[in-house]
Amino acid sequence: MRIEHECPQCGAPVVLDETDRLLSCGFCKTKLFIQAADHFRYSILPHDPFLEDVFYVPYWRYRGMHFLCKTGGVENGLIDKTFLAADIPGIPQSLGLRAQSLKLTFARPGKNTHFLKPAGAFDLSLAAAKNTVEYDLVRTEDTRIVRTSEDDYDIVPEVRLEIREEHIYHETFLADTVSIIYAPYYVRSNKVYDGVTDDATGSEPGRVLGAETTEGAWKVSFLPTICPNCGWDTISGRDSCIVFCAKCDRAWRVTEKGLFPSEFSRLASNAPHGGPRVYLPFWRVSVTMTGTRLDSYADFIRFANLPRALQPSWEDKPFYFWLPAFKTTPSVFLRTAKQLTIASPEGAGPALPPVAIIPVNLPLDDAFSATKTVISDLTMRKKTFLPTLPDITIAVREASLVLLPFIENNQELVQPDINFSLFKNTLKVGGNI
Ligand SMILES: [Zn+2]
Ligand SMILES: [Zn+2]
Repeated sequence: MRIEHECPQCGAPVVLDETDRLLSCGFCKTKLFIQAADHFRYSILPHDPFLEDVFYVPYWRYRGMHFLCKTGGVENGLIDKTFLAADIPGIPQSLGLRAQSLKLTFARPGKNTHFLKPAGAFDLSLAAAKNTVEYDLVRTEDTRIVRTSEDDYDIVPEVRLEIREEHIYHETFLADTVSIIYAPYYVRSNKVYDGVTDDATGSEPGRVLGAETTEGAWKVSFLPTICPNCGWDTISGRDSCIVFCAKCDRAWRVTEKGLFPSEFSRLASNAPHGGPRVYLPFWRVSVTMTGTRLDSYADFIRFANLPRALQPSWEDKPFYFWLPAFKTTPSVFLRTAKQLTIASPEGAGPALPPVAIIPVNLPLDDAFSATKTVISDLTMRKKTFLPTLPDITIAVREASLVLLPFIENNQELVQPDINFSLFKNTLKVGGNI
């Protein structure tokens, strides 16, 4: 979705992407973080810009990654949906693909505009899987022996179809955002019209005219991007939630109330120098988990039953989950978290690296919500562990942001010490989730 706005400094038009949290004005070069108190609210412009008495009907827009821990393993996907947030029969229940192709602006109260109040807060059950048990039709290729004559047999292929019961033990949403999109409607000659298409809807005018409206205390705030400590420009991506200052070697958390100090460390690489380097950010988290000790790396190997010979030093090596602090596709997120957690790199220093850092755009809370999914995918004891998921609680004991060096080649980012790589374009795709 594209949002049209104007630069708060010079008024020049700026086109933002829905996931942008940084406004860069191409005209006056101002850079500002954009923050909303709760949700971002956008409005679709009516077909006729001079339309009067516009009734803006709210839709929840929900986007994010989705993971299901099921009998058959971990499934992932993306959710991108809109749901009507008001109780008005006759109005479409969803915006469909419309919002993606239309011009939007930040919703602002104006003369002769009425913003209808959403009926209650967003309910995640709208996006959740509808059943806890699914029935999947499974195709199994098989062979069958058939008699072709008195003493001759043939082996013929056969496909068996079986219904398999799949229990959903755990469901996680990640990197998810909830915003509100207001769609314009108007009333003429006792009919409710769609303000974009000018088509009549089947709705009762009274339901729209009599609906509760909201005053719109939802200002979007713009914050300076300079380092609060030294005044230099921070290094920030278009959707960063943590930014860095290369001048005074600090990290800052971007919040609606301003920039707050954040801790970080970086790992050095033992690999010989080769190719341009970039650093990828990770949340390194130690945890407590119901029923299982996960203090040492040895505890983890025993719990997950990984085919590795236990080494005595692992009893003293602390165990951490390594969760990407950057957005990527759901499958790459899971694979990266798994492989880094198993590899468990060590040795961290302070100081910001003198090379590029991939923006931190996945906050700790968000990344951490995937921990149950990551451990479910890691363990070799899926059959016994997955059914216990609903009764298990995992809590953060200690967490820090760690930058890990990668070598960049044409297509990939490669971590030579642990022999891990990912395709660069998955970061680009992830940035648009
Ligand atoms: Zn400007
Ligand atoms: Zn600074």
